[in-house]
Amino acid sequence: MLTYNELIGLRDKLANGEIQLEFAKALYWNDSKEEQRSWHTKDWKERRLEFLKDKCEICNSSETLTIQHQSHPRKYSDYLREITRGYTKEYIDTNQQISKSDFTDYVFKKYDYYAVPLCPNCNNKNPSLRVRKTPKYRCADCKHEFDEAIFRSANELISIFYENEDAYEVQDKCFVSKDKWKNKNNLSNIRYWQQRERAKNQDTEQIEKEAFLLHVNDCIKYLSFKDAITACRKCAFNFDIKKMELCPQCKQHYKGFQYPTCIACLPEENLKAALESIQFGKEWHEMHERLDID
Ligand SMILES: [Zn+2]
Ligand SMILES: [Zn+2]
Ligand SMILES: [Zn+2]
Repeated sequence: MLTYNELIGLRDKLANGEIQLEFAKALYWNDSKEEQRSWHTKDWKERRLEFLKDKCEICNSSETLTIQHQSHPRKYSDYLREITRGYTKEYIDTNQQISKSDFTDYVFKKYDYYAVPLCPNCNNKNPSLRVRKTPKYRCADCKHEFDEAIFRSANELISIFYENEDAYEVQDKCFVSKDKWKNKNNLSNIRYWQQRERAKNQDTEQIEKEAFLLHVNDCIKYLSFKDAITACRKCAFNFDIKKMELCPQCKQHYKGFQYPTCIACLPEENLKAALESIQFGKEWHEMHERLDID
């Protein structure tokens, strides 16, 4: 794990093109998985001690002090997804066409097709399947009864899609991905995934570099303690879990982030209005419980 200053050095060198992305990644991850990483290095512990004040910056208590971060680094994989989405949008906006034969190959390579049954008389989708009666199907639209439904081939559907991508025939999500996710897609969804794949392959290095730099920047901000405060365990708990902070007026009770003061400090006319709101009513009830008024 790199120290704070080493991390800044790494970021700057990568941003300036002095080192390659692969090298930077290797240095940064150093064979560890993202989820298993811990910030608690010797360097971090020393810098934390230096940062930690001798009392809670919210309530002035000096009991069990911790560092309360207002934000946490976003994962590299999250950034990667976000940046890829942006590049895909750009790819689509610049209207780069995928030929019908490329698209057809992609569909057959990646998806299994489960055709929708159609009425042979009127082509209506999904005729009702009858368990006890024969013939087996009855069309809800033209009332035709029949044993054999008809099906469109995947090639037929693709041709319709290339004529009119909003056609009624191509809306169904009847293509199931061959990977372990077994995602259901229609042709328009599949085209998006193919466009995404192409956009990604075109700019792999750039996409990864942008995502990596954003992630490293988050980590630097986190390690810098710039958006952190010293808080006692009680204040930190209220902040993180209950989304409450100390009332600025009485500096005694906690209040929800969205309210100006705690309920005890509310002026009387506001109190009346506030009680009319159901949400506030709940809050009021919680407050009573906490103050042991009930
Ligand atoms: Zn406190
Ligand atoms: Zn019919
Ligand atoms: Zn108060």
